[in-house]
Amino acid sequence: MRGWLAIAGLGPGSEALVTPEVTAALAEATDVVGYIPYVARVARREGLTLHASDNRVELDRAAHALAMAAAGRRVVVVSSGDPGVFAMASAVFEAVEAGPEPWRDLDIRVLPGISAMLAAAARAGAPLGHDFCAINLSDNLKPWALVEKRLRLAVEADFAMAFYNPRSKARPEGFARALGVLRDACGDDRPVIFARAVTTPEEAIRVVPLPEARPEMADMRTLVIVGSSLTRIIARDGAPIVYTPRSAPE
Ligand code: SAH
Repeated sequence: MRGWLAIAGLGPGSEALVTPEVTAALAEATDVVGYIPYVARVARREGLTLHASDNRVELDRAAHALAMAAAGRRVVVVSSGDPGVFAMASAVFEAVEAGPEPWRDLDIRVLPGISAMLAAAARAGAPLGHDFCAINLSDNLKPWALVEKRLRLAVEADFAMAFYNPRSKARPEGFARALGVLRDACGDDRPVIFARAVTTPEEAIRVVPLPEARPEMADMRTLVIVGSSLTRIIARDGAPIVYTPRSAPE
């Protein structure tokens, strides 16, 4: 049997946002590999082995998945959102590059998913409707100085910004520092969107002006979007609409 490896995005949480392509790959798989809460989203069935592991072992997990595919198994590596956005696809290709030569000839596909920033933006309106950037605020895999540099330059370039991994128990102070950098660099009227657990039953969306943004408003299940200088708010009863116009003035 010829094995294969699919690196699949499960979307932000709702079953309705899992693509049919991902569902089909899971239906054909013999093995599913991933971080514990993502593997928990995959329905158990006979003939399917679930390999759940802790978050810190991405490269080992990737190598394990590749070794199984090389041995003829049909393997799906699962990520939340999109697998190419701060997730497993890069880890798998790092393992391919460093691994045995035959891994390069394996049947490997990346199956895209709806990334958290897209689901969060859709809930708020269209804050990413003009140029934007995405920054992972975790300094697990890069120095904090680089995070700050990118924040400052993103503000200078007047991007709207989507922040992944804003705040964890292990790094409670990073997000407070990020907000400080933003306050220094931006005007006061930027809307900040805190989108928590989007498309799950725990979903909560909050929009506040930058001076009122507090570190405690974010946790590891929150995607934070900060508008550009062009981002606008349409006030109405209930949650406001936040959008960035298609065009920037000359
Ligand atoms: N590959 C994923 C991102 C993994 S990093 C994707 O494309 O979405 C994990 C971070 O994604 C979390 O810390 C949080 O910032 C964000 N995230 C993932 N799912 C989310 C959801 N349903 N609601 C809000 N943020 C989410």
